[in-house]
Amino acid sequence: MPRCLAFVIFTLCLTLAGFSQSERPAMAEDLAGVTTRLQTDLAYLSSDALAGRDVGSEGIAKAGEYIAKRFADLGFETDKFDGGPFQEFAIPGPAALGPVEKNQLNFAGVDGLPELKLEANFCPLSLGSSGTFESEVIFVGFGISAPEYNYDDYAGIDVEGKIVIVLRREPQQNDPKSRFNGTQNSEYAFFTAKELNASLHKVGAMILVNDAQTAEGRAGDQMMRVSEAGASLSKSKVPTIFCSRSVIDPLVQKSTGKSLSELQAEIDSTGMPKSVVLKNVKATGEVDISSKDVIARNVVGFLPGKGALADEYVVVGAHYDHVGMGGAGSLAPGTVAIHNGADDNGSGTTTMLEVARHLSLDKSETRRGIVFIAFSGEEKGLLGSKHYVRSPRWPLEKTVTMVNMDMVGRLTDGGLTVYGTGTAEGFDPLMDKLNESSKFRLDKQAAGFGPSDHQSFYEFDIPVFHFFTGLHNDYHRPSDDFDKINIEGMQQIADMVDRLVIDLATRPERPKMLKISDIADVGRANAKPRVTLGIQMDTNSEAVVVQSVSEGSGAAAGGVMPGDTIIKIGDTTVANAREMRRTLSSKKVGDTIEVSVKRGTEEVKLQVKLGS
Ligand SMILES: [Zn+2]
Repeated sequence: MPRCLAFVIFTLCLTLAGFSQSERPAMAEDLAGVTTRLQTDLAYLSSDALAGRDVGSEGIAKAGEYIAKRFADLGFETDKFDGGPFQEFAIPGPAALGPVEKNQLNFAGVDGLPELKLEANFCPLSLGSSGTFESEVIFVGFGISAPEYNYDDYAGIDVEGKIVIVLRREPQQNDPKSRFNGTQNSEYAFFTAKELNASLHKVGAMILVNDAQTAEGRAGDQMMRVSEAGASLSKSKVPTIFCSRSVIDPLVQKSTGKSLSELQAEIDSTGMPKSVVLKNVKATGEVDISSKDVIARNVVGFLPGKGALADEYVVVGAHYDHVGMGGAGSLAPGTVAIHNGADDNGSGTTTMLEVARHLSLDKSETRRGIVFIAFSGEEKGLLGSKHYVRSPRWPLEKTVTMVNMDMVGRLTDGGLTVYGTGTAEGFDPLMDKLNESSKFRLDKQAAGFGPSDHQSFYEFDIPVFHFFTGLHNDYHRPSDDFDKINIEGMQQIADMVDRLVIDLATRPERPKMLKISDIADVGRANAKPRVTLGIQMDTNSEAVVVQSVSEGSGAAAGGVMPGDTIIKIGDTTVANAREMRRTLSSKKVGDTIEVSVKRGTEEVKLQVKLGS
């Protein structure tokens, strides 16, 4: 009851604030209605009943039905996919352990070791692969090879086919003067980096244990679950098992005379690796992990165009999935709690619904069709938008712009970031013009790349806008809740997006796409010529796997071949496309860089001149 009361007062305050602050012509008729609608939609989408809207869950199914009903109630066409509003696609589901007898770990060679029980003492992680192993055992510290920090746990040790024990995180993690990244995690602290490095060293299996700090922390020496590292089945070749310190410590102690904590303390105090073979110890075992596909659904409502422009389209989108109960997508690892995702991206979904409502009332005589899409699978790698651009319901060459909203619920002091202002001619001044009445503190970003669904469209040469009110400490944590949302701010953003979409949908000529190199020509802020290697990547792979090489490109001249996996640019390890883009962004067109690729079992170094 007190909760309800608080909600009523909260609603009232916001409603009053809505009345007093604005004379936006577009919505002035109905400000109270707007705020109440935004609250109702967002309160539902971010409620515990939807359990964090993880792909494949009952919660996201309900969210999808809710959005579809709202589209239908607005009179949109919702029969475009086999007569319904849902564009379905399959994605790999969460990994699950196979039978107990195929998930085994045994040590031999020292006395007094207990029999190990699956999920009590050890647990295979979906970060790694299925497979069997039998070999001697080597402690390799943090499992890090970091040339730029002059640190290599694997230096001078033959680990091929061997079983390695690896600590979580990285050396000197509580030392502000750490040789790594101070008290911040460097890229080497992450599981994926350790896994990639183990795989490059061709180890037989990797056993991960909590580092001393984690074990002494609040959660203690907590066991990880199979899907807690690695969201679904990985492309890894290395069986990877999490193991409790109470199993590994006696093993290390008996064979080396030092405890895990002592070995770590030596690494931390000297900043040097202390890798050591565990004399006489052998490990045998097997990992069996599998995953079933789950069906994800984009929700699509279509407002047909009118007149001469009716065969062109504007897409307005926002993802509605989130990370469910936590796990791999969470920044609060080890926590099992509903990640409500009120800002990410209940806010964008709700704002999109409000924009949809307003556009459903539009009376223009001549207008492009408007395609509203609530994307799924965004948190798992923009999967819903990638699926849409590969199987578009309306031709992409007739799609003139995509407008995305992802995290628009935390407007603070009017600060609004808009990406994509350099992706078409006139977008930058258009934003300034729209902002004359909105009066945001606008941060215009030219780039069309960025970690949300607009990028999928931009990659297909469609101009984009992306609205964003900024990162915060609750991002991807259970605390991203409804009560921290600035509803009035969302209303203001909805108003601006309304006016933007009407402009895009009714202007006689479609916007002229600018390539990033064109943007440099017109001198847009923060846009450098985009450097390219001249490869196309296999988008089904997390790692940077080359699918094809462009003729006449630097990659072709340098000898990059389809099937190669790019693992390093210069000295920097790149585990995925984002890391590669980040690394390349510091380079210039014409630079020659060293690209290390994995080709079969070999590592090959190539010299590639960057093009544009
Ligand atoms: Zn998001």
